[in-house]
Amino acid sequence: MRVHNFNAGPAALPRPVLEQVQTELLDLQHTGMSVMEWSHRSNEFEAINNGAEQGLRRLLGLGDDWAVLFLQGGASLQFSMAPMNLLQNQARADYLVHGTWGRKAIIEARKEGAARVAASSEESGWRRVPRTDEFELDAGAKYVHFTSNETIEGVQWPVEPETGGVRLVCDASSDILSRPIDIGKYGLIYGGAQKNIGPSGVTVVLVRRDWIEPLPKIPTMLSYATHAKEHSLYNTPASFGIYMIGLVCQWIELHGGLVGMRQRNAAKAQLLYDQIDASDFYQGFAERENRSQMNVTFRLPTEELEKRFADESAQKHMVGLKGHRSVGGLRASIYNAVEPESVEALTAFMREFERTNG
Ligand SMILES: *Cc1c(COP(=O)(O)O)cnc(C)c1O
Repeated sequence: MRVHNFNAGPAALPRPVLEQVQTELLDLQHTGMSVMEWSHRSNEFEAINNGAEQGLRRLLGLGDDWAVLFLQGGASLQFSMAPMNLLQNQARADYLVHGTWGRKAIIEARKEGAARVAASSEESGWRRVPRTDEFELDAGAKYVHFTSNETIEGVQWPVEPETGGVRLVCDASSDILSRPIDIGKYGLIYGGAQKNIGPSGVTVVLVRRDWIEPLPKIPTMLSYATHAKEHSLYNTPASFGIYMIGLVCQWIELHGGLVGMRQRNAAKAQLLYDQIDASDFYQGFAERENRSQMNVTFRLPTEELEKRFADESAQKHMVGLKGHRSVGGLRASIYNAVEPESVEALTAFMREFERTNG
């Protein structure tokens, strides 16, 4: 039996994708092997690698001026790797910080170069993104870094921040491929696959080629140039994850691409926020304009009720609703693959829980 999966990451994957993986697991393309047993140097794997890359290119409208890399080390390694590669020769970077992951990103960036916080929403208790009138941008910065969706707080940028032409570097781990983006504004986008586009173990890095330069002084494995030159096959890649990203991209295309995903995700989020707003029993964490379409965070009147909510929902096969330990409360992660039926089951449970405990 499959449960209603609200895990924050690793998270729900599309059932048709899992079924296809199951069918192909013992014998992929009549090779008598699973993809995990193939050589990453085989022609067959090269086709899988290209297929996943093309899937991302089509969905995001990436031209030849972009490199698509499949790396390891998670989004967390990109906190270091991006500034290490981009902040050469005294280049400077601005960071817009509005939650847990953005705070981690700036800590690592400072170790690599001239990175500073250009705006923070700390005084709001991380309940919103910084407002444009709070930005203190450096017009000469190489890039402005932002976290498109803060997974733990459930706070998302409704559109890209306004930077006056400075290119964006984005940690898109928890909303990549969940909606269309204005790709012309970006220089680099990264994300762990395990929230919206695949299993853990593979990290997607999209980077403009004119930002990739050979950097002989940094470790070979940490240089974008190494991986761009070798099509992510410099060393053994996370081959199973790349195969799954290709399948997830096909599934997204079948469901209307990024426009289709935005519609599907907005409808799911609306159901939940409407339920939260229907009474005072549930209190949303994020300020309204910045509510996340991916991670819906909310509180109940007492911690005891929150615990009971998490326990009783789990008994009804709704898993992963306990909030992150750092903010408490509850969190429903409703990434691309989470079905509207799961969200309906949750809102029905919320009504019932409020009726019996409110
Ligand atoms: C999960 C997450 C991370 C950390 O990702 P890892 O792949 O575990 O390193 C970073 N940023 C955001 C926004 C996340 O949601």
